[in-house]
Amino acid sequence: MKLRPACQPVRGVLNLGRQKLSKPSNLGSPMPQQDDQTPRVRTRFPPSPTGALHLGGARTALFNWLFARHHGGDFVFRLEDTDRQRSRDEHVESIVRAMHWLGLDWDEGPFYQSRRFDRYREAIEQMLAQDRAYWCHCPPERLQQVREAALASGGKPMYDGACREKGLGPADGAVVRFKGPRQGHTGWRDLVKGAISFDNAELDDLVIFRSDGSPTYHLAVVVDDVDMKITHVIRGDDHISNTPRQILLYQALDSATPQFGHVPMILGHDKTKLSKRHGATAVIAYQDMGYLPEAMLNALARLGWSHGDQEIFSRDELIALFNLESVGKGAAVFDPDKLLHLNAHWIQQSTPERLAAALPPFLAQRGIMAHDQATLLAAMPHLTPRAKTLLELADWAEPFLVEAVAFDPQARAKFLVPANAVVLQRVSEMVEGLGVADGAALEAGFKDLAAQLGLKLGGVAQPVRVALTGRAASPGIFEVMAILGGQRTLARLGRALEMTTSPGA
Ligand code: GLU
Repeated sequence: MKLRPACQPVRGVLNLGRQKLSKPSNLGSPMPQQDDQTPRVRTRFPPSPTGALHLGGARTALFNWLFARHHGGDFVFRLEDTDRQRSRDEHVESIVRAMHWLGLDWDEGPFYQSRRFDRYREAIEQMLAQDRAYWCHCPPERLQQVREAALASGGKPMYDGACREKGLGPADGAVVRFKGPRQGHTGWRDLVKGAISFDNAELDDLVIFRSDGSPTYHLAVVVDDVDMKITHVIRGDDHISNTPRQILLYQALDSATPQFGHVPMILGHDKTKLSKRHGATAVIAYQDMGYLPEAMLNALARLGWSHGDQEIFSRDELIALFNLESVGKGAAVFDPDKLLHLNAHWIQQSTPERLAAALPPFLAQRGIMAHDQATLLAAMPHLTPRAKTLLELADWAEPFLVEAVAFDPQARAKFLVPANAVVLQRVSEMVEGLGVADGAALEAGFKDLAAQLGLKLGGVAQPVRVALTGRAASPGIFEVMAILGGQRTLARLGRALEMTTSPGA
C-alpha cells in the first residue's frame, strides 16, 4: 500500500559543516550500540528554524556539543523544518550565525528534514506493512467529540483507537497512526533525572503521518536519530513526555534506543519561565550588545551544570569537565548580571589583538570607520579593566582613535575655564621639554607644578585629562599621554588652551 506523494519544499543549502552524511543508512541496520566495542558518542542539535536561537536552545546545543567533544564523538546539526509555514531561511541563517559565534562547530550537517520526506514515507510504509501503524479515517469532528467525552468523564483527552483494527487504506483526509502497546510500561534511565516510566495505557496512538503528506515531529525525529546513529539525546525536560512515545517508535522500527538526558528548564530571576521580560533571550543579541562568546559559553554552561563552586570556565575546561551527572535536576536561573560579570572577566583575559579584531563594528557605531591599529593595541591594556562589554571598550577607546576629541559638555564647562589656562600652558611647556615617554618624570613635574600653583595634583591632572580625552574619566593621565604621543598631546593641549579663553569655540 503506497502513500500518496507529498511535495517536497526546496530550500537554500547551507552546508557549513565539516562533512555531510552521504546517504542515510537503512532502518534496522546495526546500531553502534550493538557492536562489542564502546560505541562512538554521537549527539545532535535539531532546532526548528521558526525563530532565533534562544538561550535555552543554545544551552541545549552547548551541552550536546560538550558531551560529544568530551567523549571524542560527533556532533550532528539538523534543522527540523517540517513546519513549512513557520520555518524560514532567515531563521536558519540566524541560528547558524549564533552557532558560529559561539564556536559550536558540527561534524555533520546541517541536515534538513524537509528534504527527507521520502525517507519518512519509507519508514511509515514499513510500519504499515508490519502492522505497527494503521490508517485512521476519523474526521476532526469525531476526534473532538472523543476528546470532550474523555475530559467530561475525568479522563485524558486521548484517541480511542476506533480505526486501530479496521485495516483501512489511504483516503482523502486520512492520517497514519502508530499502533502503540496498550499494556505495560515504557521507561528509561534518564542520564539527568534518573529512572522515568510511563504507563502505556496513557499514551494514545499518535499520528505519525498527516493528511497533507507530511510526517509528524515524533516520526521524523526518531527516523533521523536512527539514521544519524545518535547515541545520546540531550534536550530540555519539556520533552520528557515525548520520550516514551519516541522509545516505542524506536522499538517499532527495530532500532536500539539512544540514551536520554533531560536538562532542567531555564527561569528568569523571578523564577518564571525565561522570556523577554528578563532581558534579551536571543543569543545573537548578546553579540550585538558587546558580549564575548567566551562569556556566553561560560554562562550557558552554568545554567544547570556545575563543577563544585567554580564559576569561570574556559572552553577547554568545559570540554574536559563536562558530564551529565553534574547537571542539576531543578530549574536553572539566568542571571544577566552574572553574564556581565563573566564578560568583564573574559574581556580582561583576552589578548589586545583578539579584542582589537572584535572592536570594529562597535567603533563603527561611533562613526570610527578606520583607526590606527598600533594606537589601539597600545591603549588596550589600559582600557580593558574599565570595560564590561565591547560597547564600553569602544567608548573608552574612542579618544585615542579620533583626530579631534568630542568634549563632554560638563567636563568642558568645569575644567576648560580661564583659570586653568596657566595649567595647560605650563604642562605644554613641560611636555616640550620632557616628552611623554617618562611617566615618572612627568609625575614629578605635575606635583611640582601643583605645589607652585597651590593646587592638589587633581587640579593639574583633571584639566589635562579633559584636554586630552574630552572626558573627566580616563586611564592614568601619564599613560594617556604616552599612548597619544608627544605631538598629539601637544596639539590637544593647545586646542584646549584656546577653548579656555574662547568658551564657544
Ligand atoms: N525540533 C525540536 C525542538 O526544537 C527538537 C526536539 C528534540 O530534541 O528531539 O524542540
